[in-house]
Amino acid sequence: MPRILLPALLLFFACHSARKPSADASAVVFAERPKNIILMIGDGMATPQISAGLYWKGAGKSVWEQFSVVGFHKSHSSDEKVTDSAAGATAFSCGQKTFNGAIGVLPPDNRPCRTILEELDARGWATGMVVTCSATHATPASFIAHQDIRAYTESIAEDYLNTELDCFIGGGSGYFDDRPDKKNLLDTLKKRGYVIRRGTGFSRLPLDGEAPFMLFTAEREPPTASATRRYLPEATRKACQYLQKRSPKGFFLMVEGSQIDWALHANDRNWLKAEMIDFDATVTAALDFARTDGNTLVIVTGDHECGGTSLNPGESKQTFRPGFASRMHSAAMVPVFAFGPRAELFSGIYDNTAIYNKMWTALGNGSGPAK
Ligand code: MG
Ligand code: ZN
Repeated sequence: MPRILLPALLLFFACHSARKPSADASAVVFAERPKNIILMIGDGMATPQISAGLYWKGAGKSVWEQFSVVGFHKSHSSDEKVTDSAAGATAFSCGQKTFNGAIGVLPPDNRPCRTILEELDARGWATGMVVTCSATHATPASFIAHQDIRAYTESIAEDYLNTELDCFIGGGSGYFDDRPDKKNLLDTLKKRGYVIRRGTGFSRLPLDGEAPFMLFTAEREPPTASATRRYLPEATRKACQYLQKRSPKGFFLMVEGSQIDWALHANDRNWLKAEMIDFDATVTAALDFARTDGNTLVIVTGDHECGGTSLNPGESKQTFRPGFASRMHSAAMVPVFAFGPRAELFSGIYDNTAIYNKMWTALGNGSGPAK
């Protein structure tokens, strides 16, 4: 045989055999388009934090190296180069740039925008959120609430009554049942069939998919990963299994490593390390599910950089210590990692709002419903 054919043939067989199902990340057969979307947000997480996480885990051991599709988003808000987490999450949830502090509302008149979670819920998808902050904090709030000011936490909690969210795992029960207006929103949710649980145990949840549930891991904000918090990876695994049973149409799950940002505002390296390792394990849990399922698109990104985090020269591998230029967010571009059916849509450089459009495109709905 002509010599030139041998590499081509080898390549042919390599590609051919790579289509068989296998536990190997590079050898999964994906559906043509996803049924399920898991959107994972590391708050405050951009290239420096991911680099630090990768170095802390060790070469070849971090989850980041398992992705073949990587892009970047431009994180600015409608009126400022540096976004906050409310405008950042609203860009993902609604596909529109908005002003800092806005929770699911748009300029110039603060009109509410329908989020992808709300729209998919209305279309019969199962929906969930798993976070390490309270339910009313900016990132989860921006997927289900509509308020001009992110600090309106009591109103944000009331907005949870407007969507039939199937599962929530995170903090913040106090915003529902320990309120200045004395309303008990948890009683209302129970009357609507929700199972309400507290703590970080999963055994008493309706994981067979029979009922919606909220598992409150704290009355306000959950502990840090550098202290006692461990639930995020297992909660993500459980939420995927539950949501899969909850609707035959598919599911949308938002998972947030909420406290990466808080460690950065505090310029606390040990806290950052614990949060990045926790988030690595959480993304690993989602990829494990997606790899087995074959119908699940996993997108992992941050909403913005924070801390002006730098990886400084002059350190050995063992004493690796990131430095910080500030205690604030910055405007650096943020990486987007994608895995699963239509993952290739997420390569390139685009606005943060395009993540919303790309999710709809992946589902086969153009760039999303008309606004
Ligand atoms: Mg957040
Ligand atoms: Zn922040």
